[in-house]
Amino acid sequence: MQVLRVNTEKGNITSHPLDAEWEHLGGRGLASRLVAREVPPTAHPLGRHNKVVIAPGLLTGSAVPCSGRLSVGGKSPLTGTIKESNVGGTAGQRLARLGYRAVVFAGSPEPGHWHLLYISPEGARLEPAGDLVGLGNYDLVAALREWYGRQVSVISIGPAGERMLPLASVAVTNTEGQPSRHAGRGGMGAVLGSKGIKAVVLDKPSPGQVAPRDPERFREALRGFVSALRTNPTTAKVLPTYGTTALVDIVNEAGALPTRNYSTGRFEGASRINGDTFLRLVRERGGVAGHPCHPGCIIRCSNVYNDAAGRYLTSGLEYETIGMLGSNCGVDDLDAIAAMDRLCDDLGLDTMEVGAALAVAMEAGVLPFGDSRGMRELIEEMVQGTYLGKILGQGAAITGRVLGVRRVPVVKGQSMAAYDPRALKGAGVTYATSPMGADHTNGNGLGGKVDPLGAGGQREYARFFGLAHALFDTLGLCWFTRAPFLEDRRLIAELLSGFTGREWTTGDLEAVSARVIEVERGFNRRAGFDRAHDRLPEFFGEERLHPHETVFDVPEEELDAVYGGA
Ligand code: SF4
Repeated sequence: MQVLRVNTEKGNITSHPLDAEWEHLGGRGLASRLVAREVPPTAHPLGRHNKVVIAPGLLTGSAVPCSGRLSVGGKSPLTGTIKESNVGGTAGQRLARLGYRAVVFAGSPEPGHWHLLYISPEGARLEPAGDLVGLGNYDLVAALREWYGRQVSVISIGPAGERMLPLASVAVTNTEGQPSRHAGRGGMGAVLGSKGIKAVVLDKPSPGQVAPRDPERFREALRGFVSALRTNPTTAKVLPTYGTTALVDIVNEAGALPTRNYSTGRFEGASRINGDTFLRLVRERGGVAGHPCHPGCIIRCSNVYNDAAGRYLTSGLEYETIGMLGSNCGVDDLDAIAAMDRLCDDLGLDTMEVGAALAVAMEAGVLPFGDSRGMRELIEEMVQGTYLGKILGQGAAITGRVLGVRRVPVVKGQSMAAYDPRALKGAGVTYATSPMGADHTNGNGLGGKVDPLGAGGQREYARFFGLAHALFDTLGLCWFTRAPFLEDRRLIAELLSGFTGREWTTGDLEAVSARVIEVERGFNRRAGFDRAHDRLPEFFGEERLHPHETVFDVPEEELDAVYGGA
């Protein structure tokens, strides 16, 4: 497999084989290694010395179902830490089947010099993209499919990435060519914008999956993997029916649904934005529940959400978006949330950070909770560059500082996802100790065996899920495949043995994930982060959360012990 290197300052492209020592790395493991080795930890995130690494997982492009995940890594302009933002869609498989384990963007072009990177089986080239600047992701992808053909996969940024807002996302097209899958967290769209890259167009490779080294052993393991996913109730029934919208009721019942800027854990309007309402509206309007974000997904947690007239509005509407743009902003109208999801996807914005920043602004009295029309206007202001838009577009932490709000749910500058850590304390430990700020994708183990309201056992919980996430993100496996394999990973070891032709044990898997976290935390240490940054905001330990009237009380020594302290 090759590494493609693109320097947008010099305008050159080179490629070289992946280092032999990293032959069995992909996705997050590879992206973090490359960033830690090549980016100075104190580099300005939007400057010449930062890089963007786009890396399909080790298994991505193979016949393993749900293995099409793509990692986008670099130093984050939102957190100042190392970042890996993970996304589905069709680009990961396409890149892997074109023969690339990573694409690395470097340099700092003159302002106003925009390019797109076109990659096909014949090679890669930079093309001018000045006339595409200003386009939202939907119009951009429509234009690119017109020029290059409907078969292309596209990775792109919207106007938010062009403006280098630290909450800018990187969009990836889904199976229908809609730019609705987003590497949302940490502002990686801004870093891609700082490289002058508006889009990466991936043309169709010759047919064929990435071949396993030991086909017979791989086939056998694959049979077990598929059968486990098809018989597990979560992967076979809940996710294909409701997707992640099922979580609205679950998290609300747990008393952890962020409501009106994390001021209470139950939302009185939950039944109007929950999984049942979602499913009813989808069915009435000819939408789709049980949609795959890339070919070969057999879980199909994604969806297509139509408006009241039955026209396509958005797809991939997720629980975290509903929680942060919905209950957290006091909005109980699923259509209004879906319309904001579409707007954020189009402008290239992280829905979670947007929801957190708007709720902080609501608490400051900028607009009332529940005012979804006002929210839409403020989202648009973020990319119009009004003074208020510029502040909101920096994310929740800066918004809170400027507007004088103390209840700001962030860690290391990044907003929490839609799980209140006072009622799901394991999530709180993950938020505090993740190498990437308050990121639920670094160990969200909702439904684990530990009492979510107690302080005991949360350290082990967060470490277990944090390491598991690092493994799945490195292999390119969708996190939703975890259900059957969390306790017994022998099948994954067997799958890897067949795929790589080398013997893997479950101990090897643990070593891979531990090393990923070690590399990431090492980068952060050199960037100036220490254990004092592994903390939740003070108000979580002081304000009691209704209905359980709990505070976040996991002792600091427990937080320091998750990964051994910084
Ligand atoms: S389960 Fe959902 S997120 Fe995972 S690969 Fe399938 S559609 Fe994408």
